[in-house]
Amino acid sequence: MSAKLFPNYVDGQWVEGPAFENRNPATFTEVVGLHVSGTPESMGQAVAAAQAALPAWRGLTGPARGAFLFKVADLLDQRFEQISKEMTLEEGKTLPESKGEVRRAINIFRYFAGEASRFAGVLAPSERERVQMFAIRKPIGVVGLITPWNFPSAIPAWKLAPALLCGNTVVLKPASAAPLSAWRIVEACHDAGIPKGVVNFVAGSGGSLGRALIEAPALKAISFTGSCAVGLKLHNDASARRLRIQLEMGGKNPTIVLADADFNSAVENVANAAFFSTGQKCTATSRAIVEDGIYDRFVEALAERTRRLKVGNGMEPGIEIGPCVDEGQMNTVLQAIELGRKQCGEPIVGGRRLTGPAYDNGWFVEPTLFAHVDPNTALSREEIFGPVLAVTRARDFKHAMELANASEFGLSASIQTANVSRVFEFIHGMEAGLLTVNLPSAGVEYQLPFGGTKDSSFGPKEQGPAAMEFYSDYKTVYLRY
Ligand code: NAP
Repeated sequence: MSAKLFPNYVDGQWVEGPAFENRNPATFTEVVGLHVSGTPESMGQAVAAAQAALPAWRGLTGPARGAFLFKVADLLDQRFEQISKEMTLEEGKTLPESKGEVRRAINIFRYFAGEASRFAGVLAPSERERVQMFAIRKPIGVVGLITPWNFPSAIPAWKLAPALLCGNTVVLKPASAAPLSAWRIVEACHDAGIPKGVVNFVAGSGGSLGRALIEAPALKAISFTGSCAVGLKLHNDASARRLRIQLEMGGKNPTIVLADADFNSAVENVANAAFFSTGQKCTATSRAIVEDGIYDRFVEALAERTRRLKVGNGMEPGIEIGPCVDEGQMNTVLQAIELGRKQCGEPIVGGRRLTGPAYDNGWFVEPTLFAHVDPNTALSREEIFGPVLAVTRARDFKHAMELANASEFGLSASIQTANVSRVFEFIHGMEAGLLTVNLPSAGVEYQLPFGGTKDSSFGPKEQGPAAMEFYSDYKTVYLRY
């Protein structure tokens, strides 16, 4: 049976053309779907359609736009099981993880749909008699959304919903490794009756489509999530055109484990943050910094927990860790492990591609644990984006904080401790945008600002009330009556 074709979506029309394959990383002989490869011309048409649709869309009341977002959420909810299953098939994460993510995407649409009735400006008292002054919010215009494969539903949702709520029109360019989850959201936008041209979807090669997007005259802003290298290039190109830009990029996230921590929870939290979703969360822990007093016992317990992780096809019940998203990502992970071997010695757990009947048709890597890692080596410094954890010994809390902050990244960070003073010292001293205490470093919610600091991020935060900062502007009014 031939795979289904998923067209692009431009100006309310489904556009067919030559397609690329979306393969299952757990069984790469299986083609999940064929996605139409957008061309620079189709990207230009999508931006033009978004521009044409802008006046009518921004002219709607906020609650009217919110009503469309509620409908999108309801449609995604009705299709919840199918969309979750497809996410596991295209990205490889386990089915429970996919369900959690699709639920989150639905909640994001409901959250921003509700915000539509509360989305107001600023009212302030004037120093002058009989002067009323206020600032109203207005959309920025046509916004380009470029998304990665690791949260293929939640990230498109957390960009699209606030962009639409604020009255912008959009062009979404999903990751080529997992475009179907984003396509399902666009399908729901279409079925919800969002007017033509308001939402456009162009899949295909990031290089050529990214250039066409950024060069499109009507484009006003870009929201990007992905690697630092691509983010930097986009930033340079966007700045030349004075486009508004928001970048969420890589991390090298630490978890500090102090000697007074609840030992078993700390082991579980570190294993969860490092290895679940195959370490392919931007907020995953890739460095565990463990206080001297419990270091040896902690490493032993973590190694034991890591060995027990069940790796396999995420559609099977009981599987905890799926494959890398594709061959390229798997090779990046294996190369990083090889370099780690050279610089830090043999990992104490894992370190190889998995083989055997359950693994030979997939991109599976063993959850890998390096202990006694020198904080100056690549294992401690460079993002790997796979199931690889480096454990380093810290003399005390102060030393742990120095090690944790010794990174150009600043996305997420975690501490495991029962000491309230240490918690607050961590909160105030840690250079990262997302902090967790006695929880895994990954696993954030949509109601609060999301994003990093240092080289991990640029521009206003995403999600929660902060999301509106990027997607809207102020118009300030002074009025004498
Ligand atoms: P990526 O290679 O940078 O790709 C991200 C998106 O950019 C994809 O849609 C990609 O398209 C597109 N792209 C590639 N080259 C482009 C170009 N020259 N111009 C415009 N767009 C271009 O990143 P990824 O491998 O998908 O995702 C992994 C990275 O994302 C990691 O570094 C991770 O830390 C980061 N991430 C960060 C966050 C966060 O919130 N901070 C969240 C998730 C992921 P193609 O797929 O067609 O190449």
